[in-house]
Amino acid sequence: MNQAMPVIALAGNPNSGKTSIFNALTGAKQHVANYPGITVEIKEGKAHSGEFTAEVIDLPGTYSLTPYSPDEVAARDYLLEQHPDVVIHVVDASNLERNLYLTTQLMELGVPVIIALNMIDIAEAREIWIDSDGLSQILGIPVVRTIANRGTGSDELLQKAMSMAIEGASWVPIDLSYGQASDDALRILEKRIRETELLSDMVPPGWLALRLLEQDSHTISRIEKLNSSAGDDILDMSADLADKVFREMNDETEGVIADHRYGFVAGVVKRIKSHSSLNRVYLSDRIDKFLTNPLLGPVVMAAVLFGLFQFTFFISSAPIALMEGFFSWLHSIAWNLLPEGLIRSMIVSGAIDGVGGVVGFVPLIMFMFFFISILEDTGYMARIAFLMDRIFRKFGLHGNSIVPFIVSGGISGGCAVPGIMAARTLRDPKERIATILSVPFMNCGAKLPIYALLIAAFFSAREGLMLFLLILISWTFALLSARMLRSTILRGDSTSFVLELPPYRLPSMKSLLIHMWERTWLYLRKAGTVILFASVVMWALMTFPTLPADQASSLTGNELAQARLSYSIAGRAGRAFESITKPLMGFDWKTDVALIGGFAAKEIVVSTLGTVYSMGEIDVDDSSSLSERLADEEGWNPVTAFALIMFTMLYIPCIATIAVIKRETRSWKWAGFAIVYTTGAAAVVATAAYQIGMLFNS
Ligand code: GDP
Ligand code: MG
Repeated sequence: MNQAMPVIALAGNPNSGKTSIFNALTGAKQHVANYPGITVEIKEGKAHSGEFTAEVIDLPGTYSLTPYSPDEVAARDYLLEQHPDVVIHVVDASNLERNLYLTTQLMELGVPVIIALNMIDIAEAREIWIDSDGLSQILGIPVVRTIANRGTGSDELLQKAMSMAIEGASWVPIDLSYGQASDDALRILEKRIRETELLSDMVPPGWLALRLLEQDSHTISRIEKLNSSAGDDILDMSADLADKVFREMNDETEGVIADHRYGFVAGVVKRIKSHSSLNRVYLSDRIDKFLTNPLLGPVVMAAVLFGLFQFTFFISSAPIALMEGFFSWLHSIAWNLLPEGLIRSMIVSGAIDGVGGVVGFVPLIMFMFFFISILEDTGYMARIAFLMDRIFRKFGLHGNSIVPFIVSGGISGGCAVPGIMAARTLRDPKERIATILSVPFMNCGAKLPIYALLIAAFFSAREGLMLFLLILISWTFALLSARMLRSTILRGDSTSFVLELPPYRLPSMKSLLIHMWERTWLYLRKAGTVILFASVVMWALMTFPTLPADQASSLTGNELAQARLSYSIAGRAGRAFESITKPLMGFDWKTDVALIGGFAAKEIVVSTLGTVYSMGEIDVDDSSSLSERLADEEGWNPVTAFALIMFTMLYIPCIATIAVIKRETRSWKWAGFAIVYTTGAAAVVATAAYQIGMLFNS
């Protein structure tokens, strides 16, 4: 038994119910942990059974442990390096074949495995019967039947896993032949690995032999790094053996081994699964006849999405007004309580107005993520990806990219941060990076207040149409960007895409609420950290250095405020940019100041415009008066407004997005490229819009 608290890890395919099991075992008292060197979030929590407590880890969902995607690398590295005491493999009983493939790989790893045979209810509803005792006998490991979303079976599962962990259950190797040729080669390799004790403290020799016979590049480079002669010897030996198997089987060893795993799984399934003799068409298939129909499908999809987001805006408008009311109340309370001076100015204009503008949108974010979770949990999101696949492929993207695009603001509203994280499902690094670089062009929630402001000021007669147009434009740019990247610096073939259409499912309220809360929390955290900080910094940049007294004495009111602003660092920077932006795009120095602020978060463009244009007035965040002000302002017209909309749509993603691009690509190079690339695109498009518009305007 381990001295420390035993560790139980949950592994399984995406959507097999891992998180539901995790919540059932731990009572949903989870938090997100970040393991060093792993960018993928891994959840951990505690489970109690009798007098014992174990740490429970929810690993990212994976189909295999052959590291193709970051999720798979994270799961595999965790299992290899952290050596959990027990692995609970959550298996979707309604999709047995695909799930058991992962079982074979988990059982090779050298950790004790217990199977949670989950979604028994769905399997039985489809008249699939599984002999779980038979499965346990064949594999030699415990199998517990569960219905995770109802908590059924979780006590038994925990008890068994806990006692395995406490007693230090030993690893049961899988009894699986990879074919005569491979087995012979494996025996030789394994013997040599045992003799030299290569990596013996890390991984079982059998596992290492298998990876080497597959010529797995991660494993090879790991051994190369050891710089040991025994290691190099074994590498040579494995290359020869792999070559020998290749000549004998006329196929790469990796393929040979995978085939045998599939064969093994097929054999197991044949013995333990029985099917109702009624060959009925399942409900899901019948629904799909309509929802994925080439003609009807897109119409239904457009209607569903449009209705959904329309509804989101509708039900969140009252709570948003409430939040805004709260912040303007806070604004005036603070204004009246605090003595006049820099502190008051910083707290009211910097902190309260800056953060308030962003937190005000929380209801919208919550409802939107709630509805997006419904799309995901019911299985409809997979159908959307299926329908979009063909269009996306034309632009050099993988069908799975649709989710990042939609999450980033495909219908307006959304956020590129979770959007970029959703790109983890893409295995091909080039497709993944092209997606990551293109989704910031979508209309995220932070751009909405900017659009709303400028539309109200200059296009009030056609509000709905204008917003619809902006959505189309952002899709166009995002897809064109992907096309361009994929045919230049990220050139490559589109990977084949076998889309999985999971059966439709009624989502559970608990899972919807958890998903909604996780994402809302991310947004709130951003408001409380990055945006609060940036607002105060912007305030300082617009305040310091202060105007010398002798210059200030002759001025009053607005004039004084203007002079102060233009004397500040932000004012000077704005003036420096004005000489470029004014002739090209029509932006004056005040707009430039706001755009600089928008780098912290695009919401700040609005609050900074407000500050800049009404310095000296108390109410700096009243956007209706700001839009009137803009409409009357000299130098502003619909063409400038449109150019500004284009610029904010495309330019430099906010700091949080840059940070997540860096984190997900693990490279500052791509983060830097994103800044230059997006801002370049924005400048070109805004200049074209302004110049062409002015031709017609005059
Ligand atoms: P994960 O991706 O593996 O973490 O899967 P989740 O725990 O998020 O589950 C995916 C969906 O399946 C959720 O909507 C769950 O409520 C649902 N679910 C999980 N287990 C079961 C089960 O045993 N039966 C049914 N009917 N639904 C389940
Ligand atoms: Mg999960």
